[in-house]
Amino acid sequence: KNKVGDKMAKKNKQFVEKITAMEEDFAQWYTDVVKQADLVDYGPVRGSMIIRPYGYAIWENIRDILDAKIKETGHENMYFPLFIPESMLQKEKDHIEGFAPEVAWVTHGGDEELQERLVVRPTSEVLFAEHYGKIIHSYRDLPKLYNQWSNVVRWEKTTRPFLRSLEFLWQEGHTCHATDEDAAEETRQMLDVYASLFEDYMAIPVLKGRKTAKEKFAGAKYTLTIESLMHDGKALQAGTSHHLGTGFAEAFDIRFSDEAGELQPVHQTSWGFTTRSIGAMIMVHGDNRGLVIPPKIASKQVMIVPVAQHKEGVLDKAYQLKTRLSDIARVDIDASDKSPGWKFNEYEMKGIPIRLEIGPKDIEQGHAVLVRRDTGEKIFAAMEDLETKILELLEDIQINLFEKAKNHREDKTSIAKTMTEFKNSLENNPGFIKAMWCGEQTCEEKIKEETSATSRCIPFEQEKVSDTCVYCSKPAQQQVYWAKAY
Ligand code: AMP
Ligand code: ZN
Repeated sequence: KNKVGDKMAKKNKQFVEKITAMEEDFAQWYTDVVKQADLVDYGPVRGSMIIRPYGYAIWENIRDILDAKIKETGHENMYFPLFIPESMLQKEKDHIEGFAPEVAWVTHGGDEELQERLVVRPTSEVLFAEHYGKIIHSYRDLPKLYNQWSNVVRWEKTTRPFLRSLEFLWQEGHTCHATDEDAAEETRQMLDVYASLFEDYMAIPVLKGRKTAKEKFAGAKYTLTIESLMHDGKALQAGTSHHLGTGFAEAFDIRFSDEAGELQPVHQTSWGFTTRSIGAMIMVHGDNRGLVIPPKIASKQVMIVPVAQHKEGVLDKAYQLKTRLSDIARVDIDASDKSPGWKFNEYEMKGIPIRLEIGPKDIEQGHAVLVRRDTGEKIFAAMEDLETKILELLEDIQINLFEKAKNHREDKTSIAKTMTEFKNSLENNPGFIKAMWCGEQTCEEKIKEETSATSRCIPFEQEKVSDTCVYCSKPAQQQVYWAKAY
């Protein structure tokens, strides 16, 4: 018996050692988790990734939730081509300037050199703009509320699976409105949709605000952003919504005749949400045993692991439970001949919210064992109470993950009135820093130069933490959140 125990312990140890402890090396921990939990494999080109079924199932869940919200708010899906002619991308000057360093070019079709180079879309503002120019004529055509689900390519210098990949999956919304105010309202509405997806489903608290002029989207009037904090104290831009003003409308001649018959440029927005969100979820909720997936996003919420499954009646009971519980949750069973210990580790690694253990003793005593992934707590639940208990637990795990992440963010948010305080916080308690800013880009650039922290957002909820700019001591205009970021 001891021998078996030793063997189990050794196996367990080997398994845990497959991932680096996060305190030791957070970047390596992340890489280990995405590989060991079987979310991705590396693609053949540097920075590209193969999204494996378990990772893709998570994306499908996120996508379905967001797609429903996009449709509820009146948008329609459509699909644009992958290639953009160079001349088309050149039309809006700020836009091309911003994206030129990271576009992939197509120069040949077969053996023949193309007369005009093509870019693989890094985003589709110009494609939408060209199309809108053709289909919008009158105020009656407005608003136009379109969205596309697709892949895009950005030739990123440093890459990391999900967080920053060469090719990523996303949705991009592109809308046209009659007035600046309508576009502003849309920009804000879609930011709120993203925020709700993060907070209410992915259990990740976000700060909402506006990007500084330096950090805004190339070609936008302004950019709204949601910013989240990862476990290691680095920030992540989780989603952005841009008020494009009339820049693209002027460049692409998208005009409508208003009610008085006057030609006016449309006011546009665009907004994007990507596979990066999966990276955020890993880095916010994960631990040294692997992934922790919030119940609302988990493709499998309960994993049934039969114990001593060769004993009579165990597998029958386990399958019965699967059928029964599938009415209330996403339930799966692992009846393979791997050991229960292996299975426990495997589904902890995969972050499945609840493990249900069922063995001969449990059957005899009329209960099942439920184990929470977030706390490790073991609960004996009577057979007849399983539905109630599981639903309760799923809700509780969802809330607990959000609260934990929020407390973590609050613990890691500091106030700085001087650059000395600023640097001390970054050194001793890395996370968000609230500090005042005079509004000058030079101060923003200096702060980045000296600390490598960037302005994350000018939050909608302003807090006056002092009267003067943290860098130059001139009168302050706004409070800004700063952080080192992914
Ligand atoms: P943008 O169109 O530049 O505003 O990008 C929209 C969103 O895409 C950003 O807010 C990021 O969250 C995300 N994003 C940007 N670059 C990448 C990338 N290389 N991989 C994954 N997500 C990205
Ligand atoms: Zn200043």
